[in-house]
Amino acid sequence: MAVEKMVGVPVRFGARFRPALLRFPQRPTWPDGAYVAVWPKEGVLPDLAGDAAAGVPEDLAGVVLADLMHHTCFVCAARFEAICFEAAIPVLGRNLARHRVVSGCPACGGDFGRTRIGGLALSQLP
Ligand SMILES: [Zn+2]
Repeated sequence: MAVEKMVGVPVRFGARFRPALLRFPQRPTWPDGAYVAVWPKEGVLPDLAGDAAAGVPEDLAGVVLADLMHHTCFVCAARFEAICFEAAIPVLGRNLARHRVVSGCPACGGDFGRTRIGGLALSQLP
């Protein structure tokens, strides 16, 4: 496994957020995609401690692939790590409908339109 290409997902986001590497074996010239796999809030998290390839498809029920990004609020300049789905490839169908989206800045209360802060999860940086 190409661990060096994996996204480091901060533990504070919780067990629902795990590093994932999307490969394209039929397209050898395409680079691997490093993402954050996000499980829905409801339901039971699968035990992925062993070989991921041995997992069953049900383990991925509701999972979406997202990116870990840094955003700064346009209103109050608070900084956040955000789990964002906009740039991820929608490989897993309509799973996004099973996720709650955080919209707006928790620091100043401004809406997304003014702050540009949002995502599947936010963690404010010092
Ligand atoms: Zn703000």
